[in-house]
Amino acid sequence: MNDINSIYTDLIMEQSTSTHNKKKIENPDRCEMGRNPSCGDEISLSLKMDGDKIADMAFEGHGCAISQASTSIMIDLLKGKTREEAKDLVKTFIGMIKREITDDAELGKLEDAQALRNISNMPARVKCALLAWHTVEKML
Ligand code: ZN
Repeated sequence: MNDINSIYTDLIMEQSTSTHNKKKIENPDRCEMGRNPSCGDEISLSLKMDGDKIADMAFEGHGCAISQASTSIMIDLLKGKTREEAKDLVKTFIGMIKREITDDAELGKLEDAQALRNISNMPARVKCALLAWHTVEKML
């Protein structure tokens, strides 16, 4: 078990209170709610496409630091990506948290989202970390 301090890295703390992805999108193409009743996390994701590219994405809602940080980090990563690229990144992230993907080179494409890797050592927080990613899966 990792020390809690090594898991709540500066990046996660910073992203959990950041509001740059927390907003409303005008005329979104898709909206989807995500809930994690075991922790009380609730997010609403909005997505705007430009052809095959994710032009904009934002979220509203509330929850623990992990769920909020994971959502914000995910939005930073997926914005500007094509639908196929985004699907691949979501699959890779879920694989990382479930420890099915451990190859550093492959996980490298997750950029900042790798900061959440150690969450896989905290079973109670796994659902918090995966909430946004499972929600966006339904939208792509
Ligand atoms: Zn949570």
